[in-house]
This record gives sequence, structure tokens and C-alpha cells, in this order.
Amino acid sequence: MLHQVNPDEDDANMDLGRFIHEMTYGRDKSKEISLGNIRLDIVRQDKEGLVIGEVKKSSKYLKSARMQLAFYLAELKRRGIEATGELLFPKEKKKESVTLTADIEKELMKAIAAIHCIAAESRPPQARKIGLCKNCAYKEFCWA
Ligand code: SF4
Repeated sequence: MLHQVNPDEDDANMDLGRFIHEMTYGRDKSKEISLGNIRLDIVRQDKEGLVIGEVKKSSKYLKSARMQLAFYLAELKRRGIEATGELLFPKEKKKESVTLTADIEKELMKAIAAIHCIAAESRPPQARKIGLCKNCAYKEFCWA
């Protein structure tokens, strides 16, 4: 993504994600907002303040979902906007709050630095098949 290589928009998993979002939260309930290179699924103001929501197909990859939302919260903070996050798993009728704590922010900065190191290489690292590949919208790039 740093090199502007975007996932395959026609990938079945991308379609499923859009479908779940649309069916569960509907156009009238959700407010999808783009901010720079991030797209916020749901933005709402409640009595505790601004809440951003990220809709996920499943909670299987909870750690990466948490880090994605933490990244969005950090991007908002960089712009002077304080918010809390909410991960939504409509198929499982579950949700989880995500707060940008000092520990998460530190972990995030470490991950970002590692990503920038990889992106600065002249060639990508050797591809290695992992469990995530099966449902990844980049698989055509890596394994076609
Ligand atoms: S290696 Fe697997 S998880 Fe990583 S981008 Fe390629 S298909 Fe996706």
C-alpha cells in the first residue's frame, strides 16, 4: 500500500466485506469518511466523545484489526483529534473497544518503522505463504 499497490477490488472477500457493512449498518446509519489514506467505516459522536468504528468480517485476526484501528486513532491524534475506537463483528454480534494507550502507540510506532524498512528495500522480501493468504485481496499479486 505504501507503493500505491491496491488490493484487488473484485476479490470475493472485498465484496463480502462491503456486503456485510451495507447489510448491517445501512446507508442511513453509517457515515463513511475518508481522511488522507485512511477510510473510516463509521464515525459518531456519543456522550464520551468521538468514536470511530471499523467493521470486520470476523474476529479471527483480532490483533491486526486492533492495530489497524489503533493506526487510525493515531492518524486522528496527529491531526489534533482525540477519539476512541470500536471494532464491530456483525456476523458474530460482537464488538470491542480500542483505546490508543501509550503501550499500543509504542507497538504501533515499532510496526510502522519495520514496514518503512521493508518498503525502502529495492526488492520485496521473498513471499512466504501464511494462513492469511487464503483470504487476502493481494493474493493475485503474490501467488498468481
Ligand atoms: S503474502 Fe499472503 S498475506 Fe501477504 S500480501 Fe501476499 S497473499 Fe496477502
